[in-house]
Amino acid sequence: MTTYADLSTDELGARKAELETQYAEIKARGLALNMARGKPGADQLDLSMPMLSLVTTAEDCRAEDGTDCRNYGVLDGLPEAKRFMACMVEEAPENIVIGGNSSLSLMYEAVARCLDFGTLGSTPWCQYESVKWLCPVPGYDRHFGVTEAFGIEMIPVPMTAEGPDMDEVERLVADDASVKGIWCVPKYSNPGGVTYSDDVVRRLAAMECAADDFRIFWDNAYCVHHLYDDAADQDQLLDIGAACREAGNPDRYFKFASTSKVTHPGAGISAIAASPDNIAEIKKRMGVGTIGYDKLNQLRHVKFLHDAEGLAAHMAKHAAILRPKFELVVSKLEEGLADVGGCSWSSPRGGYFVSFDAPEGTAKRIVSLAKEAGVTMTGAGATWPYKQDPRDSNIRIAPTLPPLDELDAAMDVFVCCVKLALAEKLLG
Ligand code: PMP
Repeated sequence: MTTYADLSTDELGARKAELETQYAEIKARGLALNMARGKPGADQLDLSMPMLSLVTTAEDCRAEDGTDCRNYGVLDGLPEAKRFMACMVEEAPENIVIGGNSSLSLMYEAVARCLDFGTLGSTPWCQYESVKWLCPVPGYDRHFGVTEAFGIEMIPVPMTAEGPDMDEVERLVADDASVKGIWCVPKYSNPGGVTYSDDVVRRLAAMECAADDFRIFWDNAYCVHHLYDDAADQDQLLDIGAACREAGNPDRYFKFASTSKVTHPGAGISAIAASPDNIAEIKKRMGVGTIGYDKLNQLRHVKFLHDAEGLAAHMAKHAAILRPKFELVVSKLEEGLADVGGCSWSSPRGGYFVSFDAPEGTAKRIVSLAKEAGVTMTGAGATWPYKQDPRDSNIRIAPTLPPLDELDAAMDVFVCCVKLALAEKLLG
């Protein structure tokens, strides 16, 4: 196979001229396409419309124990909502607190609590000269936004096909007590689509940490977001809670999940799960700031999804919509970039993203070329702490929002931009 790097200067110049013509034609079409954020498409949102009609009368507003959900109270969530979220966070209902519509805000608050108050009697993290955090890369930009906002120093750790590079993680936590946490998206990771191996989960649970209040922020945002229905084609993840208990570190983890990409991202329910001691502390602190979250919405979710089986059946409907989109992205990349060289990408079995690694030094240029041609991508660098990708290579592709025909057009633009950026780079 002859890649762009193998072409002579003349050949490459001719290729670049062709690409410039193609690019000008695309630009002239005045497209306005968006592959920037992992939002469900309108057809996915429609799947949950029946949920909105399940709580309409005063009688509908009663929880199973008779609680009138229109009123104040029940800080930690309805028992039936905790039982339901247990099938996402794999924890006993009593070790779960139900939040509002955003798991990200539960994470933000969990970091804030540890900074202000410490955790389980430890020194408040704000009293340290510096607090450090491990950030597997590429990772989720909003995680990095949270730790950056609090002035926490973020340390990138490379992702492998099995999760974070554990040799590096173990080395970093071993003798620096200011390393307090790690962001993890352990299943169908954002953006790489990686599911942590059993070995990685066990090592995270068991590793020796200089900080005895080290916390794993286990953001299982994509725990039930498979693209394929057959169990053999679905990733399996070991439970971090069980692994931490087995390793004798039962308080080391906070788990998070939400129904944002199950029902409606703007109006779902979220959960934090942790050890009994952690949960007791979370409730104590949380109870100062709220009397309780939206119980009517908790009821709606339980009445609509029921249990693990109901959830799986509903997620299969999402998968039927999303599968062709992911397959289209991967096939467009394969067809368009096979003879270009220097590019690689993920072929995820779940989650919301395809992670694309462009030839070093071209990601920013690709994203800006795409923008000029009417295709908005996630900013280059966004998958790194401080938005700084040292290789200027990783680009997150979010294929879920555009309808298939728009995605098809957007991917043609993207492929053209990748080739043009590489030709420009090689020609200097
Ligand atoms: N975590 C990850 C890994 C995500 O990708 C997202 C959404 N893009 C969120 C959390 C946000 O979750 P929520 O809507 O529950 O705040």
